[in-house]
Amino acid sequence: MQETKIVLSDREIPKRWYNIMADMPNLPKPPLHPATHKPVGPDDLSAIFPMTLIEQEVSTEQWIDIPEEVLDIYTLWRPTPLYRARRLEAALSTPAKIYYKYEGASPVGSHKPNTSVPQAYYNKKAGMKRIATETGAGQWGSALAMAGSLFGIEVTVYMVKVSYEQKPYRRIAMETWNATVHPSPSNLTNAGRKILEADPESPGSLGIAISEAIEDAATHSDTNYSLGSVLNHVLLHQTVIGLEAKKQLEIAGDYPDIVIGCCGGGSNLGGVSFPFLQDKINGKDLRVVAVEPASCPTLTKGEFRYDFGDTAGLTPLLMMYTLGHDFVPPGIHAGGLRYHADAPLVCQLYHDGLIEAKAYTQTAIFQAAVQFAKTEGIIPAPETAHAIKAAIDEALLAKEEGKEKTILFNLSGHGYLDLAAYADYLAGKLQDYEYPEEKIKEALSKLPAI
Ligand SMILES: *Cc1c(COP(=O)(O)O)cnc(C)c1O
Repeated sequence: MQETKIVLSDREIPKRWYNIMADMPNLPKPPLHPATHKPVGPDDLSAIFPMTLIEQEVSTEQWIDIPEEVLDIYTLWRPTPLYRARRLEAALSTPAKIYYKYEGASPVGSHKPNTSVPQAYYNKKAGMKRIATETGAGQWGSALAMAGSLFGIEVTVYMVKVSYEQKPYRRIAMETWNATVHPSPSNLTNAGRKILEADPESPGSLGIAISEAIEDAATHSDTNYSLGSVLNHVLLHQTVIGLEAKKQLEIAGDYPDIVIGCCGGGSNLGGVSFPFLQDKINGKDLRVVAVEPASCPTLTKGEFRYDFGDTAGLTPLLMMYTLGHDFVPPGIHAGGLRYHADAPLVCQLYHDGLIEAKAYTQTAIFQAAVQFAKTEGIIPAPETAHAIKAAIDEALLAKEEGKEKTILFNLSGHGYLDLAAYADYLAGKLQDYEYPEEKIKEALSKLPAI
């Protein structure tokens, strides 16, 4: 019998996160204060983040211990299985070996609780009563809601209004985990009231929701703010994915030639690839590929410069590949990949040639997702479908070249709460958007000149 899954025991969960900042040839440039353009210090951040996370944000220690309490909760779904996609390989008649790490195995169906759990833990330990955050379609909100309920810390979620109304299932999940969910813009914050005054029917946006959550945290001493991607400490927590995958591939007697992840803010890509990038920095021959939507082509078409993390320009300026903070990407189904920029760590590594990037259109990625579902069973999240498309393309290229390559991709989440997207695809109603060059140019022209 051939093995399909490589599983580790609970005792083999990594005990430390890997910090790539210890090994990078060039560290990202520091975040700058949005008004003064001077580097931000710990004091600027302590109003909304606990000190442990601020320390992790700037740490250059190679390994950081995972607290016992976090490991305990990780055992609810970790280690996640590593699958060999034998049926997909057969359908493609490729000599390549395709492996995928299944992060959809978590209770919320994605990789996001790998960081929401430690973030809730550190906030609880710092004496916080409540955490405020934003969510688009609800993936991050539900991950934080679950973590909050496990540690007994309240969670307030500002959810983009159009999603709040049109995508009720993750909202119901958040409420089941005891979170309070507000449609954003709300009349609970100055930022929300200002938007509502100008446009009472505003559908909201992630940028507005971020502004509301930050204001909530900054104006309540018992409340902090929490972010589900982009920041260094988030990518650090996600490295459990790659660390486990490395052990599992070792058991299979393999090592990847190519590591692939979809890239919205960069957290699951960083998580799966950083432990392998450590080897690449030390001379190992392997490729890491970030996959993004053609309609929001951050790495492939953006500019590497300082930009805000949110639409309103309240956050520190980060050095990122960006399309401009007020660029509004078309409403594709992979909502998690619509961020205007990417994690500073991913951007620096891309800039230094250690990561490659690719972009695909919506119909192409759904075609790949359906082929995957028909051969491997799992219906992937639309975000994940980008990584699957790239893995299939690499496997077909290996066939053309007659090479037996080993491909690893991260299956960042399942798509069972995104079935409306599949309904549109199956009905032939999906639209492909052109690369919005003019809109990106316009958004980039408004960036601060630093
Ligand atoms: C949020 C999300 C993403 C995108 O976020 P990253 O920070 O780039 O990982 C990708 N896949 C799934 C399933 C998600 O929920």
